[in-house]
Amino acid sequence: MGRSVLVTGGNRGIGLAIARAFAAQGDDVAVTYRGKPPPEDLFGVRCDVTDTEQVDAAFTEIEAKHGPVEVLVANAGITDDTLLMRMTEEQFTSVLDANLTGAFRVAKRAARAMLKARWGRMVFISSVVGMAGSPGQVNYAASKAGLIGVARSITRELGGRNITANVIAPGFIATDMTDAVTEDRKKSILASVPAGRYGQVDEVAAAVTFLASDAAAYVNGAVLPVDGGLGMGH
Ligand code: NDP
Repeated sequence: MGRSVLVTGGNRGIGLAIARAFAAQGDDVAVTYRGKPPPEDLFGVRCDVTDTEQVDAAFTEIEAKHGPVEVLVANAGITDDTLLMRMTEEQFTSVLDANLTGAFRVAKRAARAMLKARWGRMVFISSVVGMAGSPGQVNYAASKAGLIGVARSITRELGGRNITANVIAPGFIATDMTDAVTEDRKKSILASVPAGRYGQVDEVAAAVTFLASDAAAYVNGAVLPVDGGLGMGH
């Protein structure tokens, strides 16, 4: 029998690729979505991660179908870019609420059953920007840096119970999110990527399935870059 896997924001982009990679291994995959549901072959649950009640209801629905979540991938995320001097407090807190507090909400809800099972895998999708910073992304970078503190603290709290909490730091991956970046910015980003190209969503998914595998049992509190060398040294 496959493991019960939950990928937040798994209806499109990186999250969809992660969900498909787990499904291809035979796991029982659930994905959350807000707007457009996932493709029909994936079990979708409507859930906005900024709402604790919706998070709880989504877990309850998944538990009924697949059993307690054994592998959690906190992937849902947004950007709302602008320079510091123009960024409103609402722009800052709304990005933190979705990207960082959202990950906290799902991790907290998942931990209960993982502790009981004395086994679990949590993978947080951060970004190279969380460590390197990025102009116009004070809110986003803060949220992504925060995920590292979350994962490492969970590692210290739960690492003795066969629960791992790791972070993936993708670089520039071709999705709707990066489509929104201007051509000039894309060119300057690519000039600094040693691989000389954008990453593919499947390349992020491969790293996630590794961290969730039995082979990665001794990898805990790690930050794994999947960035073509963009963030080397961070
Ligand atoms: P997309 O914009 O393509 O997808 C974002 C996903 O997050 C969607 O499924 C969206 O759901 C979901 N989401 C956003 N806000 C919420 C919320 N409040 N509650 C529930 N779901 C939400 O982004 P990517 O696939 O590119 O990014 C996925 C993750 O990877 C993000 O955390 C992002 O920060 C990170 N990342 C991406 C990089 C890239 O280059 N693309 C680089 C580094 C990190 P809906 O469809 O309903 O809006």
